[in-house]
Amino acid sequence: MTTATDRPRFENVDYALIDALSGLNPGAWVGSRPLACGEGVLTSSSPADSLPIGQVDRPGAAACEEAIQAAADAFAEWRAVPAPVRGRVVRRIGERLRENQDALGALISLEMGKIYSEGKGEVQSMIDTCDYAAGFSRDLFGLTMASERPGHRMMEQYQPLGPIGVISSFNFPAAVWAWNAMFAAVCGDTVVWKPASAVPLTAIAVQKIAGEVLEEFGMPAGVFTLVAGGPEAGDAIVEDPRVRLVSFTGSTKVGHGVAKKTAARFCRTILELGGNNAAIVTPAMDPTVAIPAIVFGAVGTTGQRCTSTRRILVHESIFDRVADAMVDAYGKLRAGHPFQEGVHYGPLVYESVCDDYRAAVQRAVDEGGRLLCGGEALPELGPCYVAPSIVAANADMPCTHEEMFGPLVYLIPYAGDVTDAIALQNGVRQGLASAIFTEDMREVETFVSAVGSDCGIANVNLGTAGAEVGAAFGGEKDSGFGRELGPEAWKTYMRRQTVTVNYSGKVAMPQGVQFKL
Ligand code: NAD
Repeated sequence: MTTATDRPRFENVDYALIDALSGLNPGAWVGSRPLACGEGVLTSSSPADSLPIGQVDRPGAAACEEAIQAAADAFAEWRAVPAPVRGRVVRRIGERLRENQDALGALISLEMGKIYSEGKGEVQSMIDTCDYAAGFSRDLFGLTMASERPGHRMMEQYQPLGPIGVISSFNFPAAVWAWNAMFAAVCGDTVVWKPASAVPLTAIAVQKIAGEVLEEFGMPAGVFTLVAGGPEAGDAIVEDPRVRLVSFTGSTKVGHGVAKKTAARFCRTILELGGNNAAIVTPAMDPTVAIPAIVFGAVGTTGQRCTSTRRILVHESIFDRVADAMVDAYGKLRAGHPFQEGVHYGPLVYESVCDDYRAAVQRAVDEGGRLLCGGEALPELGPCYVAPSIVAANADMPCTHEEMFGPLVYLIPYAGDVTDAIALQNGVRQGLASAIFTEDMREVETFVSAVGSDCGIANVNLGTAGAEVGAAFGGEKDSGFGRELGPEAWKTYMRRQTVTVNYSGKVAMPQGVQFKL
């Protein structure tokens, strides 16, 4: 049997965290304190080489209960810590992430399969989020309103919400936590994190850093807790009345179940779900911008981003030209181990997803699509590698209305003008990211107007994938509800409170109501 020690080592890769987690690791934590688990052992293997990285002692119901209770207990203390002091804790987490960027980036790449620069980029996104959230710790402002009653003052202010749950997807194994937890922590909330089962070691590495920082500042360990278990651990968070907000990132199908359960107990949600993102390419596009941006959108992260480009809507007059340019560009792509220099994309997350991918390509052909390139397995690289595919399709094919979480893109012609392309783009149930490639100002303005894209994200002359933390992120329709990041996001993690102070020494009702005793 091959083991982790057989793993080839790449130069310029920081293996510190990979090595540190190569044994058996507790799967539940309160700050930097591990909890007793004992619900079996989960082995985390790399899709890059199918070798084990480390093992996790799987948390059961008792560990979940302990973590959630610790978060509830810590909330009582943490919410009373001045927000700018909470901001210092978050800033310090950012510094620790900076110190560990290469090592954590390597762990992310090995465990999830994204190329090393994307692994390090994910950590950069966490660092940026820490900087951003730390700034907000001095900016959790309210408003003062004029009262109609003499000697009264009205204002609204924001209060911490309570423990919040973060349930994250495999494809951003660390950043999804930061996007939520850093803002939540600054707002005075505590966090229970349930990562995806494919990537528990990354979560443990991040949790340890956050726990150590809490210790350094003498803050309660329960501010950050982790339960790296299976769906049942996620369900424990979703169902628990102590958890006041559930931020769920994952598939629309699972998100639907989460939404029902949280709604039943009036719990707030952020739902970051699946996408079916389109890029519109009009005759007025600049190919030197459009083609590279679309290729990254479709193939980057091996098509495993919620914002990956799934549909390319091309005007019929330039369809063949764009198809040729895309096929030509795909011919230059290199698949390989995520640590290898010059590689554009790595493996899919599981071998079973490769089977799903190949079945999806076959389905597209069965529905009338024409395979222009790719679609096959690449067994010489390992069981999780596939060649990205382009299928010439039409918008009526049912497969083009569903998210395939891999590097499969549909090239779809449109006739008429940009409004026809927008209608096709909006004609699916998802509404996460969208893009248009054009140098025509009228087309641009139509796309971003009220009759334009119905998605949460509308990009002009850049691809659907790749967002910055300074702007709100989230989708519409089946792609979810609510926003992470951006200038308003902090309000989601707080409760809004209206305060009216009567300093008149008299009783006064609004609307002139008289009530005399
Ligand atoms: P998934 O839905 O399979 O799992 C997401 C998380 O939910 C995991 O942690 C999983 O263990 C947990 N889970 C599973 N069943 C649960 C249950 N019954 N109750 C509570 N939690 C449960 O998704 P995935 O395969 O990890 O990620 C891929 C999907 O995520 C894609 O659809 C992608 O588009 C989406 N995604 C969306 C965004 C976004 O911001 N919109 C970002 C990343 C990924």
